[in-house]
Amino acid sequence: MANKKNIVAEINPEIREALVEMGAVDAYKCYQCGKCASVCPWFQVGTYEFLVFRFPLETVLGLIASSEDKEELAKEVDKIYRCVGCEACVDQCPLGVKIPDILRSARRILVDFGSYPETLKSVVQKIRNVGNPLGEPRETRGDWAKELNVETYSADKELLYFPCCIPSYDDRISRVAKATSLILKHGGVSFGILGTRESCCGEAIRRAGAETVFNETAKANIQAFTEVGVKQILVSSPHCYVTFSKEYPELGGSFEPLHTTQYFWQLIENGKIRPNKSYEKKVVYHDPCTLGRQSGVYEEPRNILKSIPGLELLEVDDFSRNLSLCCGAGSGALWIDWPKGERMADIRIKQLVDTGAEVIAVACPYCLQMFEETVKAMNIDITVMDVCEILHESLSG
Ligand code: SF4
Ligand code: SF4
Repeated sequence: MANKKNIVAEINPEIREALVEMGAVDAYKCYQCGKCASVCPWFQVGTYEFLVFRFPLETVLGLIASSEDKEELAKEVDKIYRCVGCEACVDQCPLGVKIPDILRSARRILVDFGSYPETLKSVVQKIRNVGNPLGEPRETRGDWAKELNVETYSADKELLYFPCCIPSYDDRISRVAKATSLILKHGGVSFGILGTRESCCGEAIRRAGAETVFNETAKANIQAFTEVGVKQILVSSPHCYVTFSKEYPELGGSFEPLHTTQYFWQLIENGKIRPNKSYEKKVVYHDPCTLGRQSGVYEEPRNILKSIPGLELLEVDDFSRNLSLCCGAGSGALWIDWPKGERMADIRIKQLVDTGAEVIAVACPYCLQMFEETVKAMNIDITVMDVCEILHESLSG
């Protein structure tokens, strides 16, 4: 170990330089007060000491760069890939230090070394090859829409609807894309999809450190959007929302994204749609980190639910809005199988179930998939639905 410490001391200046170059400059603002540690969901899981301070991060990268012990290496890589990008820490840090960005730059170094989790390597490869993380054929990307006669987008339409990957291919989650399309038709909105020309927004692989493949994928989308004259993009996933609003402009793509909860609340306010069928259930709303903390969208999903007759809206005491606990799927973690007893979704489901709700409402495909899998694994009898699915059920005709 003494020998290893010497190697780390030698390597640290290089590691520091590489981290800063790849975007971790915030690490040097941190004065190690520890506030972030108290809100990181991994501390609630209770099995893990998270890397929030700059010196441990450099030391871990030093160890990775110098270690020949494969088991030890895997443990250190695992630490860097634990961060789910929930930004609970950013929300609480007095200096606004962006720990997920620091870790993303560490991940970029690991991806450059080829030292990152095998499951994520496979996801990155699939996105590069066929534009989605599931490895499904590009030709079937728009199949979910066939039975609804959804048209292909053209410049004379008001909106491009961009469901992204999981709602396009997953049987259960494609019901969100279908409900969204049916609500748009109900409100008389002119919209279309890109179908086979749509690729993953790339958010998860960027946060996993695969910057090059993110750039290729994002540029393919930007080109497709530009060629067909897209202006406004309706998205089901808050992950697409932040990527289109904050990251595509850096690559020359300026489009106006709207999350389904924002757009559907506007339609209700403008009287274009009116929830009038009673939905007599107790519903608890889970704030997705990327829609709430990262995009400031807290009211619209709640307003939609409150506008539905008969629906009783519940909240999780102390862990709601900006204090919501992550489902555990962000930054590529959806594809990493954490050991039982180390899953933050188990804790979140317990908080949601303890409200006495019959239905958990979400507004993110990752949360939906994570919670569906978790309630099955925990054998809990509760329904998980997207806000759009509930809204669609409450529209008659
Ligand atoms: S809250 Fe901010 S300043 Fe305090 S330890 Fe965390 S990152 Fe550093
Ligand atoms: S983004 Fe979330 S998981 Fe990552 S360090 Fe911050 S609080 Fe922890």
